[in-house]
Amino acid sequence: MEIKLVGIVGAGQMGCGIATGFSAAGYEVKLMDVDQASLSRGVANISQDLDRQLQRGKISQNSRDATLARIYTTTELADVGDTDLVVEAATECESVKQKIFAELAPHLKPETIVTSNTSSLSITKLAGRSGRPELFMGLHFMNPVRVMQLVELIRGIATTRETFETVRVVVESLGKTPVVSEDYPAFIVNRILIPMLNEAIYTLYEGVGTVADIDKGMKLGANHPMGPLELADFIGLDTCLAIMNVMHDGFADQKYRPCPLLVKYVEAGWLGRKAGKGFYDYSGSVPVPTR
Ligand code: NAD
Repeated sequence: MEIKLVGIVGAGQMGCGIATGFSAAGYEVKLMDVDQASLSRGVANISQDLDRQLQRGKISQNSRDATLARIYTTTELADVGDTDLVVEAATECESVKQKIFAELAPHLKPETIVTSNTSSLSITKLAGRSGRPELFMGLHFMNPVRVMQLVELIRGIATTRETFETVRVVVESLGKTPVVSEDYPAFIVNRILIPMLNEAIYTLYEGVGTVADIDKGMKLGANHPMGPLELADFIGLDTCLAIMNVMHDGFADQKYRPCPLLVKYVEAGWLGRKAGKGFYDYSGSVPVPTR
């Protein structure tokens, strides 16, 4: 099946990155979010990112303008119904995603492939609500989408070979490299990465080190490009907590218990970079540790 028009549900950091990636590769894109304010914020972020690339000489003025022009925005989920491929990138919350798939189902063309960018949730379970489990799969981009090479592909129990192959070809057309994960909580990358970030938060919680020293330690001591607390802020602390909870519930194993300090930060609304505050305060020119 040929994919030309792609619908993205959710215009947060991932939805906008995915929309830009598809549009830059020549696909027409419909970007949907619940309200105009979220869409305006998303489009402003997309323009800012494209402007930065233009200034660095990575793209031409024409390709910047064309990429932006191929992204159409809407607050109506039904508008996404006529697309060839849907990528759901809304908040990491099972009930939110279930509701989106159930509401979208009656508006879709019979052949539309539906995917979720979920970081952790069961693809088979989400597929059940889509009304088309054979045309459903996981399509997990990494953050930031433009920079990160990898995309995880996850089959649900009913995903057909044709659906999988179509999506794999699309991923390659974006210049990305796929890996295949079985449908278990948090898949491959987050199964390994997020418990490491949670452990860094425990290290802070137990007073073993300061925010600055934990991040410096892992950058200089393990050669990580970002410290774990900096990275948790970048991902979004609500998303990190949601992923830990899915692993904790899904594996029924205490080793995945979320750190109480992570829970506290999320309760405070200190969700990281996107909220202006997390393990660092981003209101000034230089991020300042909050503990
Ligand atoms: P985000 O908080 O930046 O954005 C979520 C967006 O979804 C918001 O704009 C919100 O308004 C929108 N939304 C909520 N309910 C909606 C609905 N019913 N219909 C349409 N839009 C709705 O979150 P994010 O970091 O972009 O994460 C989105 C998804 O991508 C999650 O499933 C997350 O697990 C996954 N993901 C995140 C990362 C990361 O590093 N942040 C990486 C890979 C995958």
